[in-house]
Amino acid sequence: MQLLQMPKLEQPEVLRLKNIWKTYHGGHPAVKGISFTIRRGECLGLVGESGSGKSTLARCLLTLERIDKGEIWLNGRPLHELTTSQLRQARREMQVVFQNPSGSFNSKLTIMDSLLEPIRCQNKGCPSFLDSLSTSEWEIASKLLEKVHLPASYLARYPSELSGGQKQRAAIARAISVEPSLIVLDEPTASLDVSIQARVLNLLKDLQEELGLSYLFISHDLSAVHFMSELLMVMQQGEMVDVCKGKELFASNRHSYTKQLLELFDGD
Ligand code: ADP
Ligand code: MG
Repeated sequence: MQLLQMPKLEQPEVLRLKNIWKTYHGGHPAVKGISFTIRRGECLGLVGESGSGKSTLARCLLTLERIDKGEIWLNGRPLHELTTSQLRQARREMQVVFQNPSGSFNSKLTIMDSLLEPIRCQNKGCPSFLDSLSTSEWEIASKLLEKVHLPASYLARYPSELSGGQKQRAAIARAISVEPSLIVLDEPTASLDVSIQARVLNLLKDLQEELGLSYLFISHDLSAVHFMSELLMVMQQGEMVDVCKGKELFASNRHSYTKQLLELFDGD
């Protein structure tokens, strides 16, 4: 008997960028006509050397930066057409983890208060991936820390009492707390010791698989992007010069700039 081959269901689009352009006042274009799509559960990798426009593109899609031209669709809604108050609402569907973990925390707040900030702001309760019996704030916060392998005793600490890697773990716990449609990770391990970097990348990957998260993973380090992402985009001087699946990275017909990055590749 012949088995019917069911087509693999395509996941819904979370984010679609169309022809995004951005020039800072008086400067050259930092982002030149970039388009891409991220589907649910996907990790899209963006690689390029420092100054190539990766963070500008991230800030544009997070609507932290006004674009000159183009379209940004989040879960089918055109962010480029929304009013300021509608945008505030839509922005909640995205969370971001930046390079510098110290800058992401208010030094005067305990880790517990920082962690619960998005849940409180959005009037949300316990995230669905935690035990639904977790009703107290302390319980929710401690279970969120458990997800990133930090002990509950850290809840009473201040950011200055945590290492860079621990702060970045707490930032990741905070990002997942409101179950966002998309998490933008802009060089999340660049400021960490090399020995810590791999552990944080592993954590991000495990959480993605467990919770079905969608990521835009940005790094200047091709090996990190290759480890994290099925699909890689290569950016140079504001342009997308190459797009490939991870396993196609080593093919001979790659763009010359991708090949340059590959020379620095640490594939261990
Ligand atoms: P990357 O994240 O890839 O290192 P950026 O997006 O930070 O790149 O920078 C891209 C270009 O835009 C660079 O030439 C940088 O100097 C310029 N740039 C970035 N931020 C600003 C800003 N706030 N004002 C003016 N120019 C900026
Ligand atoms: Mg950057």
